[in-house]
Amino acid sequence: MGELLYSTIGAAWDLLQKKELSATELTSQCLKRIEATEPKLGALLAIDSEGALAQAKALDDKGPNPSQPLWGVPVTVKDVILTRGLTTTAGSRMLETFVPPYDAFVVERLRQAGAVILGKANMDEFAMGSTTENSAYHAAHNPWDIQRVPGGSSGGSAVSVASGQCFASLGTDTGGSIRQPAALCGCVGMKPTYGRVSRYGVIAYGSSLDQVGPLARSVSDCARVLSVIAGHDQRDATSSPNEVPDYLESLSSVSLKGVRFGLPKEFYGEGLAGDVSEVCAGTIQKLVEAGAERVDVSLPHTHAAIATYYIIAMAEASSNLARYDGVRYGYRSSQITDLESLYVRSRTEGFGQEVRRRIMLGAFVLSSGYYDAYYKKAAQVRRIIRDEYVAALDQCDVLLCPVSPVTAWPLGQHANDPLKMYLMDAYTLSLNLAGLPGLSLPVGKASGLPVGMQIIGKAFAETQLLRIGKAIESVLPNIGCPQL
Ligand code: GLN
Repeated sequence: MGELLYSTIGAAWDLLQKKELSATELTSQCLKRIEATEPKLGALLAIDSEGALAQAKALDDKGPNPSQPLWGVPVTVKDVILTRGLTTTAGSRMLETFVPPYDAFVVERLRQAGAVILGKANMDEFAMGSTTENSAYHAAHNPWDIQRVPGGSSGGSAVSVASGQCFASLGTDTGGSIRQPAALCGCVGMKPTYGRVSRYGVIAYGSSLDQVGPLARSVSDCARVLSVIAGHDQRDATSSPNEVPDYLESLSSVSLKGVRFGLPKEFYGEGLAGDVSEVCAGTIQKLVEAGAERVDVSLPHTHAAIATYYIIAMAEASSNLARYDGVRYGYRSSQITDLESLYVRSRTEGFGQEVRRRIMLGAFVLSSGYYDAYYKKAAQVRRIIRDEYVAALDQCDVLLCPVSPVTAWPLGQHANDPLKMYLMDAYTLSLNLAGLPGLSLPVGKASGLPVGMQIIGKAFAETQLLRIGKAIESVLPNIGCPQL
């Protein structure tokens, strides 16, 4: 069973369709794996054993259905995505007892496709963080070395996939939160183009940046899940009406011959750790040997991305999180004497330190007198960053760059230094400012820890990214699985 739990959705789905395995058997195996590994990993905030077994039984009773691409496939869902009847906390005390009355669009889609939802994945509170240490409940641990962080904010999703607890997970990526934990845990993760996937029922952090996407153990599995969750939804005004291709179907024959990889020089310079840089260089070499070409490109405003992102993300967060006032939603302090203390105490006690910091900074950059200097300026620089991506992508097919400047670091290392933590996002967050799609792939290991690289494409180039990603996957040795 160990092997089965580390196999791909494609392989498990075939067995399920042929009735060599039942949805109930597979679900039970995953639940056993969860029970055995959770004390070490802390990947999940809610485990819905009963609900999952009931979903699996309902599927088995009806029998396999080839038109359901996730029939009987056990998955987890980041706890920022609403699941009807199953607690959804966004990793915050503020929502500790919140049971959503409806499913997010992406969860409706998972259910229609026959997926079995095992539970809710741990995360940084309101998706603010890069390690999952900001979860109000407990940290998640990297399965390759449990003393190290799994990345974040979708750390629980990456851990659950990398440790064989489930076959895929949904995460959200506002500034790297799918791609970075995927890289640090050795799985594949995709941030789709802004608007490709509906945000309906996803608790908002930075609404102009947030996007839901898959984490899985192969590029094909990511393609399969993306085909399920992508598409127009009139309940999200920013969701795109563009037709959704069959991403999985498009992967039938792939090659690296003649593919032009743009290497932005700003991503390969100072700040990139030597061991990660070596793995990246080795990867580029292998791609060239397989027939790809390298093109030197530049994204000159990369140095401004961190400041720009954190101004915009915090401004949007301060506005989005205003709804948690102790009156309408979530936590209410018991120490209330008047209206003001209701707001102040509920928000002070309900939110963690990082969330409070961001709300205050966000409110500051939006305040009159500072708006022009910070928010407006950041919006202007964001436009420049986007234009530079578009120009760089005109010179090549896709961009290729590291995801994280370092491999997974020890738990607690940057926990008290928010600025150091923000620097860890240097290679991921400009993509969200530009609204473009990115696919993070495991390309090797350094001192036993996974290294990921991302490929970045034009808006709605998901098919191309997945095709090139699959071709890359086929020329690189598999990094194996963590020994737990
Ligand atoms: N680490 C970044 C932040 O803290 C990105 C988080 C995310 O993508 N949700 O904002």
